[in-house]
Amino acid sequence: MAAERVGRANELAAAGSGPVVDLAAPAQIAAELDLERWLAKGMTAGDLAGFIDAYLARAIHLPHPRALAHQVAVPNVGAAVADLVHGAINNPMAIYEMGPGAATVELAVTNWMLTHIGWRPQPLDGSGDGRHGGGVLTHGGSLANLTALLAARAAAAPQAWDSGTPHDLIVLAPPSSHYSIARAASILGLGSRAIWPLFTDDRDVLVAEAVAEAIDAACADGRRPLAVVVNAPSTATGLHDPVRAVAEICRERGVWLHVDAAHGAAALLSSRERAHLDGIDLADSVTWDAHKMLRTSGLCAAVLFRDTRSFDIAFRQEASYLFYGEPDFGLDLITRTVECTKAGLGLKVYLALALDGEAALAAYVEDRYAATRRFAEQIATRPGFEVAYSPESNILCFRYGRDDDLQVALRRRLLRTGSFHLSSATIAGSRYLRMTVMSPQTSEDDIAAVLDEITDTAVP
Ligand SMILES: *Cc1c(COP(=O)(O)O)cnc(C)c1O
Repeated sequence: MAAERVGRANELAAAGSGPVVDLAAPAQIAAELDLERWLAKGMTAGDLAGFIDAYLARAIHLPHPRALAHQVAVPNVGAAVADLVHGAINNPMAIYEMGPGAATVELAVTNWMLTHIGWRPQPLDGSGDGRHGGGVLTHGGSLANLTALLAARAAAAPQAWDSGTPHDLIVLAPPSSHYSIARAASILGLGSRAIWPLFTDDRDVLVAEAVAEAIDAACADGRRPLAVVVNAPSTATGLHDPVRAVAEICRERGVWLHVDAAHGAAALLSSRERAHLDGIDLADSVTWDAHKMLRTSGLCAAVLFRDTRSFDIAFRQEASYLFYGEPDFGLDLITRTVECTKAGLGLKVYLALALDGEAALAAYVEDRYAATRRFAEQIATRPGFEVAYSPESNILCFRYGRDDDLQVALRRRLLRTGSFHLSSATIAGSRYLRMTVMSPQTSEDDIAAVLDEITDTAVP
């Protein structure tokens, strides 16, 4: 019953019917959903249908062709089925015996990712060594980034787990890196001031040549770079930092390279688009969000290491009720995660691959990347509009006029009517409107409509 209603809502949204999102204040929504009543008097199965409809009426509809704001997947059927299965059986599979099927599926999925990066998959029994890569799924890319930097810290300063983070450690990252990198530095006890900004060009893309200088300057200053972080691509612009050139510099100087490919790793599936990630196999760690371009629901992300032993140094733990000696059957993934209880995330990716096929996921990435390039040309030909760069993914920044405040005001006005949902970002200090083309339905007609509405709305 609920599945039917959700399915219908998604179909209507994909057809472009109704608003992308119908915003209202919480008090109004609480009244519409009768929240107090159902808590006080309980809900029957008959009441549930009406409640779900009211709930869906206040949902944001991601399949809508005019939902263009954020990098959040329109989930595929495999992911939805996996959520249903997990929701019903609740296998917290980080301990192998608490979900042996889920744990094995997760290893198969992270192996599939490792292979796409160009790394050797891990033996399913956890017996990997320096020749094997390793991976684990996490509840989000932010946690994957934290885990990667934790391993990098352990590689640079093995004593840090017990003695705390040495004060000479720094992380080199472009200012365009995701905010979770700065958060991770603070959480790890480095402090956000230990993030040294790498030089970027006028599109906020990292300049590879400056990385060598930055590492040398840091060392001359008595600091130890524990990692260099690059974007593949950057969240704000969807532009890729030059992975291979930076990887070669890091190799030469023995500095850990983390590639934050949360958004873009799915392009590895495409022979046409994978060149953006050229050199990713030279990195030490990679973040890959399935809940962006692999079309799973949130949350489902991966942290992947070139050397599976990175997990052994990243985490040490004691809990007498969980950790007691060698596993009898399979690897306890809990030794690789910040989380203790963890959902069977692997099934979401696995079922998508099994039901739709890898070729369909690759075609989705190619199709949305290509559409975004066409939209950029379309926007550039409209008087008054300007695109900030040629897109390298399905993220595009553009603006109407050059006034920073106008871009923010336009976004707000469109969102209030619910007709379009755009986001906004700054590039080299200037404000832009930002679109992320996630819905498979978004077409030139939708882009023409948004440009019309912006032009109309901009008239004070
Ligand atoms: C989305 C994103 C993240 C954060 O991932 P979450 O899954 O939202 O925690 C990190 N880095 C980059 C480059 C991203 O695009």
